[in-house]
Amino acid sequence: MFLKQFERGRTFVAKLDYQADLLEELNKICQHEYIKAGYIQVIGAISSLKYGFFDQDEKEYTYNTYAYDESMEIVSCSGNVSVKDGKPFCHMHIVASDKKGKCVGGHLVAGTSIYAAEVVIQEILGEDLVRELDETTKLTLWK
Ligand code: ZN
Repeated sequence: MFLKQFERGRTFVAKLDYQADLLEELNKICQHEYIKAGYIQVIGAISSLKYGFFDQDEKEYTYNTYAYDESMEIVSCSGNVSVKDGKPFCHMHIVASDKKGKCVGGHLVAGTSIYAAEVVIQEILGEDLVRELDETTKLTLWK
């Protein structure tokens, strides 16, 4: 098990720009403010969605299989911030619904276009929280 104690740091609130890329904007904020650890919540709407699924047998992500291109609500989008390759990195998951309420979701990747997005980022302060390749899962996990 991995267990570390942190304390609350700064709290940020952001309204992201229309048609910007959701994941890229979150990474930009965390890198600009040098948020090395934290958690993020996003609600709003998107005009396109791209997300990944990690195949545990193949040990790789598939991305384009689940690409959508329509108006959707962000039902939930949450994740965390840690350090990967020496810089702040957002690991986000998203659930989005279509106009009938049907939801899809997974690992958020670049390629999701914002219609409107309200973000809260809570920084946490403590030891370094760093991602490295985990040989068992082949994911970059906290070390
Ligand atoms: Zn993920």
